[in-house]
Amino acid sequence: MSLALDMVNADDIGFMRRAIWLARQGENSGGGPIGCVIVLDGAVIGEGYNRVDQQHDPTAHAEIVAMRRAGERLKRSRFGGATLYSTLQPCGMCSMASIWAGIGHIIYGAEREQVHQMYFEDRHLQTIDFIRDAFKKDVTVIGGVLGEECAGLYFGPDDAPAVDQQANR
Ligand SMILES: [Zn+2]
Repeated sequence: MSLALDMVNADDIGFMRRAIWLARQGENSGGGPIGCVIVLDGAVIGEGYNRVDQQHDPTAHAEIVAMRRAGERLKRSRFGGATLYSTLQPCGMCSMASIWAGIGHIIYGAEREQVHQMYFEDRHLQTIDFIRDAFKKDVTVIGGVLGEECAGLYFGPDDAPAVDQQANR
């Protein structure tokens, strides 16, 4: 059992499996294969998948879509105590949005080293490491949960995707 799996429980695994299912829904419907679930007090309050291309919206990452759904449902913009599950290490935008939302825990699947670099905006430092350090009183970050399964959703580090597939997430 990996270190990441020691740090989560069966519920976390279940929610990550739902995020993987959402990622596949995204891929099958013309979105991107990134899925996200936000959970508060054991209940899903928002979920979604990448809709950047469908909505012509560079901010429509799975995590942002899920946060918007949670906001609509709860009629508020802070989700204190919530946990965000994402199939891929969240980017800087989504990590910071989680901080603004008061989401206390981020759990993700694939690490950036497991996927093609096109999925990430940063080149010389890891935004998630900055977030982990700068906001350590506000958020805990655990990566690598079902990491191999999640990584299977994406182009690998050494793949050479066709140009029209090289959208950022
Ligand atoms: Zn993002």
